[in-house]
Amino acid sequence: MRRVVIIGSGIIGAAIAYELSSIPHLRVTLVDRQVPASGSTGAALGLLMGVISQKTKGRSWRLRCQSLERYETLLPELESLTGETIPCNRRGLVKLLFSGDDWQKWEKLSALRRDRGWDLQLWDSSTLQKYCPQINRERAIAAVYSPRDWQIDPSALTRVLVKAARMRGVKCKFGVMVRDCLSIPLNGAENRQCDRIETTEGILELDELIVAAGLGSTPLSDRLKQPVKMRPVLGQALHLQLPHPLGNLDFQPVITGNDIHIVPLEGGEYRLGATVEFPDESGEVTANPVFLEKMREEAISFCPDLARGEILRSWWGKRPRPEGQPAPIITRLSGYSNVFLATGHYRNGVLLAPATALAIRELIVDS
Ligand SMILES: Cc1cc2nc3c(=O)[nH]c(=O)nc-3n(C[C@H](O)[C@H](O)[C@H](O)COP(=O)(O)OP(=O)(O)OC[C@H]3O[C@@H](n4cnc5c(N)ncnc54)[C@H](O)[C@@H]3O)c2cc1C
Repeated sequence: MRRVVIIGSGIIGAAIAYELSSIPHLRVTLVDRQVPASGSTGAALGLLMGVISQKTKGRSWRLRCQSLERYETLLPELESLTGETIPCNRRGLVKLLFSGDDWQKWEKLSALRRDRGWDLQLWDSSTLQKYCPQINRERAIAAVYSPRDWQIDPSALTRVLVKAARMRGVKCKFGVMVRDCLSIPLNGAENRQCDRIETTEGILELDELIVAAGLGSTPLSDRLKQPVKMRPVLGQALHLQLPHPLGNLDFQPVITGNDIHIVPLEGGEYRLGATVEFPDESGEVTANPVFLEKMREEAISFCPDLARGEILRSWWGKRPRPEGQPAPIITRLSGYSNVFLATGHYRNGVLLAPATALAIRELIVDS
């Protein structure tokens, strides 16, 4: 049996734990200083924007494709194993286009996606009005509709992944902080092996370590003397209650305009988000109420009925954004034979979690 320890039970660590739980010769332990989905994942809106993203080739597109495909099998698998239903919205995603937006760019993308079997529809103003009458036609002049992009509740998904992983033998240690990662030299000082971690509950010995700790991955990589720099990019969001659902009752897709997402829930409730707030020079960022209000006003400008929404809750989270390398970081940690990084997913961790788990599975199996 190889002992695998995963640090971090956000969407990434949970997806990895579940994926590895089907490999018979692994004994997997999932460790988190809090409960699952307490970090960035707990703040996320859960949009899965794959087909509608502007990525068309390379690693970014490949990861998106793999995730969208894996989601199709993952959800039924999880639901039948655990008996849980994970809230999601499968009515597709409507991206609003405004004056000045490049229509031709979308035509090109739509043709490219069609060639690969993905549907991406371009809607003129009257089609947009027909399907989404709640949208202010003086602001949004057209739209792109992606029926295959969708939205899932990230916290619920994380909890169900953990439950399913546990049912398949993964050991969970929540409320346990990893303080240090200790290593021994292997064939000279350049090549090391992490053989144990020091936690608030004592030492945990291991054969493979997966660091999926979001922003917490930076201090852990510092302990391993292979710093992985990341910066927090803060996002604020709102939970609104409207007197009744917006637009067509039988067509409630996620609507996104100017990077602001309107996510329908049940009974006239909506999530609205998120701001994108960068840290100052010291690396710190705190939620700025001005940005939140600006976001709400912008959303109201293209969806005026939102002004009638009562704010039930507001929250924020910090997205882990890698510095000096593209998001996400899915690799073996340089200088170590048995440490893997699955972190820095920035704005797309929920979308890319299934593909990340498959990539880590491959690295572990090959190691
Ligand atoms: C407002 C907002 C909206 C977003 N919307 C979307 C969206 O629509 N779609 C999308 O795909 N993505 C979205 N994201 C991004 C997404 O949330 C992140 O990319 C994703 O959650 C990262 O997951 P993670 O598991 O890597 O990190 P996290 O969720 O932060 O999990 C890391 C875990 O590691 C634990 N940890 C850290 N250090 C230690 C330690 N030393 N010991 C033990 N445990 C430790 C933490 O407690 C935490 O639970 C959004 C983010 C925000 C903030």
